[in-house]
Amino acid sequence: MQEISLPEPLKLQLKACRTLPSIPAVVLEVLDICQDEDVSIGQVSKVLMRDPALSGKILKVANSPYYGVRSQVTTLERAVTILGINATLSLALSFSLVRGLQNGRRSGFNHHAFWLRCVISAAASRIIGIWANTANHDELFLAGLLQDIGMLVLSEAIPDSYGEIISLTQENHTLLAEMEKKEYGCDHATVGAWLLKRWNLPLNLQMAALASHGEAVGEEELPVFSKCVMLANYIAAVWTQPDTIEATTAAKDKAEEILQISTEQFEDILNDVAQILPEVTENLEINIGGEEFIDRVMDEARGALVELSLHAHQMIQEIELQAKRDELTSLANRAYLNEILPQQFIAAREMSRPFSVLFIDIDRFKSINDTYGHQGGDSILTSVARVLRSCTREFDVVARYGGDEFVILLANTGEKASLHLSRRIQEAVMVHPHMIDEVTKIAVTISVGCATFSADQPFLSANELIEAADRCLYSAKTTGRNRVVSFNQMNSRNISSADCA
Ligand code: GH3
Ligand code: MG
Repeated sequence: MQEISLPEPLKLQLKACRTLPSIPAVVLEVLDICQDEDVSIGQVSKVLMRDPALSGKILKVANSPYYGVRSQVTTLERAVTILGINATLSLALSFSLVRGLQNGRRSGFNHHAFWLRCVISAAASRIIGIWANTANHDELFLAGLLQDIGMLVLSEAIPDSYGEIISLTQENHTLLAEMEKKEYGCDHATVGAWLLKRWNLPLNLQMAALASHGEAVGEEELPVFSKCVMLANYIAAVWTQPDTIEATTAAKDKAEEILQISTEQFEDILNDVAQILPEVTENLEINIGGEEFIDRVMDEARGALVELSLHAHQMIQEIELQAKRDELTSLANRAYLNEILPQQFIAAREMSRPFSVLFIDIDRFKSINDTYGHQGGDSILTSVARVLRSCTREFDVVARYGGDEFVILLANTGEKASLHLSRRIQEAVMVHPHMIDEVTKIAVTISVGCATFSADQPFLSANELIEAADRCLYSAKTTGRNRVVSFNQMNSRNISSADCA
């Protein structure tokens, strides 16, 4: 772990301070005897019993629905057995710290707001820990609670200067850390870790406090324990920052970034936190403003998450659409055509509906390229694409097949209608003033091959149909260009020329 070192002047100020947060003697003693792995529940209970308020709290929690004990728990020893030594320690420390310190009155420092954020952070750390399948949820609760204790230390040791910084940064944590570093040479995360080390608390907790802003150590190397605590800080902001939507968005992004938590999973975590908040705040005697407040924030957060999901969904659709588009003309591309053509063919066959395919190729396109360059040719491809799109219905698929070739799929369209449309397209391309650049206009013509699937012309596959349209196009090219040839016309022409032979 990175060395926790405070700048010398600050260290001197902190050491001289007589009112630094401290752990009550009873809890210190419990911590001390718990260093021994063989400590018994009886020993722990005996020490705790000396603090009646703390004992009462532990009994109350052991009787809470969370632990699901049927008969009432009346002895401290049984309560500690039910909670386990770790949870008891975590509760004892949390309760005594919050109780002892929340009534402080330092200028510019709002103790209630501070502890409220800590308690929500504690609850969230525990829930995230359960989600991330970590073993030490009770320790996580404590780590969440203590991650910002450095703020308390600074507000006790240098109340006036720190009060000023707090009021200047308006609880914006990133800004606060920056100003602390500028003013004192380190931020409250380092100060907090320093205190936890002095208290002899486990390394996990020191490290989580140190890393709580993701700056002291590279986020990549952070243990999951510290990541849970860091994310909990963002989740606490959902309930404590004035702008719930902004805080929810930041927390959701952080969840994805450091623990790969999806939006749905994040909503579940938020719901779980909201669910345990009434009990946790009551246990630690922090007023959160009632269950209506918790629910109201939760509703706003849920709304923000729905918006975020919708936005993400639109982005995915946009990316999918891009993958289906031809880059130059923005028409459908060949890959999409290969996907949609068989689908439309099968649908037409199953519903006994006619289905037409037009195969289009620009006439003498090579000479446009030769005369005006490749860029001039590109302008013509784009311009022809625009005319094709403007002549067709919205649901017709207009695709660039490759080079100067285009394919149009016409669902529910028989031979007569498709021939009519083909001629309209041929005419529209011919009369359109195609611009090579801002001043040069040229005339362009196209040839069209047109094949229709119908009861009279039952092509066996989509491939057969498009190949037929391609052959019609070839026929249009060989018989003079700037014309439309349909499959029927081509066949009757072939038959008549065969008859003549
Ligand atoms: P025809 O009337 O027989 O179709 O003659 P053509 O000159 O149009 O011949 P063809 O259709 O075979 O020519 C296609 C040309 O299109 C060949 C190639 O150099 C050019 N080409 C292919 N892709 C692009 C492109 O993305 N941009 C440009 N500017 N030219 C392209
Ligand atoms: Mg061509």
